[in-house]
Amino acid sequence: MDNIVSLAKRRGFVYPASDIYGGLANSWDYGPMGALMKENIKNEWIKEFVSSRDDMILIDSAIIQNSSVWDASGHLEKFTDPMLECSKCHKRFRADNLIEDVLGIDVDGRTSLEIDTIIQNNNIKCPVCGGKLSEVKNFNLMFNTKLGPVDVSSDTVYLRPETCQGIFTNFDNILKSTRLHLPFGVAQIGKSFRNEITPGNFIFRTLEFEQMEIEYFTKEENADENFNYWLDLFKKWYIKIGIKKENLKEVELTKEQRAHYSKRTVDLYFNFPFGFKELQSFANRADYDLKSHSEKSKKKLHYFDTDTNKNIVPFVIEPSVGLGRLFLALLSNGYREEKVLNDTRVVLSLSSRIAPYQLAIFPLVSKDKDMKDISYNLYTDLRKDYRCSYDDIGAIGKRYRRQDEIGTPLCITVDNDSLKDNAVTVRDRDTMEQKRVSIDNIRDYVDKCFL
Ligand code: ATP
Repeated sequence: MDNIVSLAKRRGFVYPASDIYGGLANSWDYGPMGALMKENIKNEWIKEFVSSRDDMILIDSAIIQNSSVWDASGHLEKFTDPMLECSKCHKRFRADNLIEDVLGIDVDGRTSLEIDTIIQNNNIKCPVCGGKLSEVKNFNLMFNTKLGPVDVSSDTVYLRPETCQGIFTNFDNILKSTRLHLPFGVAQIGKSFRNEITPGNFIFRTLEFEQMEIEYFTKEENADENFNYWLDLFKKWYIKIGIKKENLKEVELTKEQRAHYSKRTVDLYFNFPFGFKELQSFANRADYDLKSHSEKSKKKLHYFDTDTNKNIVPFVIEPSVGLGRLFLALLSNGYREEKVLNDTRVVLSLSSRIAPYQLAIFPLVSKDKDMKDISYNLYTDLRKDYRCSYDDIGAIGKRYRRQDEIGTPLCITVDNDSLKDNAVTVRDRDTMEQKRVSIDNIRDYVDKCFL
């Protein structure tokens, strides 16, 4: 993990936020490579799950909503974690995680009182200093702020803790402004905020993060089938974007472990450097959200089923993944160190779909004007179709290593012979194999490599 964090900073993927002021715990900025890679992940997700399908649309709802949204969704009352504080060092912990660490028991679904009793009966002390722990309190994870210049409680608004509520509240607007018929899905990518008690593990659990969520509306009788369909589809997509199959595993949640609204939840775990942990969750949220919003807003949120001539409230299947978590999964999935002669080569094996750059183009000798001209012209031509980087600084070996570390799949070098044979050397990041390819055929060659 330390090596990944260090590479991320060194090569401009992720920097500690507010770095010059000593940082801010669990806040991270995405640098030039990170920002590009994040965009690539989002674009692949949209391409796969929205633009290539007839039954999906994309929306972009507001982060700050009317607070009634969070009342109806249950977040004001139930979006809490059991928290306790050490009376000596004042560190705060999630009581459920502490019990799991100390006693190996899963306390999901238990009340804070029950959790408190377990802590007291087992005489669990602060894991940092051994001090006495406070009683367990439910801590709401939503960040709040005030709307307008006057500080009164009625103006309290919340930063959304999940993006999907903006989809449910727009259900009727979406039906009226599109020609969608069941089953159909609404996708959204955007920032969510959670005041996590124990954030950490680099960008795995942060206070602000981007979610990529789909709400797939279906008739109740087809919900189970659609659940399996989406789970399967995502597993295939992860393989397509380069995740190794053995790094994924499914975990079916018990009734006690599931959110109160969920009829079924499966978490897809990824093998992070700190062990298998949740990457994505799939939930059958049933008709809970549409019904709650309908009740609270007194607006009808239903669908007219032309098969039965009846209004129905559809069920919804939700595949939801954190973009930062997927980003970290891709970094650790692709990171490797290998011995080359007396040196260690760091390689980030990212798929050409995801890598910040797909091609890097170099002149072999940076001072040779002809070589420079050919390579720069090739670069400006190729960047019309591919994400390209150009580098003419330093020894060629160092330039290759730099591209290996940022995950560029192919490097193209223009050398002395290129001036005569109109061909270039193409080097593969993973095998380091070099092939001579005619400039006229370069696109065909690259396309075959990127299949
Ligand atoms: P966890 O159990 O890890 O706290 P969760 O079950 O609360 O996650 P969901 O509410 O199901 O998470 O959110 C869907 C997805 O959003 C998660 O699978 C994860 O990828 C991402 N996610 C949730 N919380 C965070 C966070 N604090 N930082 C980064 N990503 C997050």
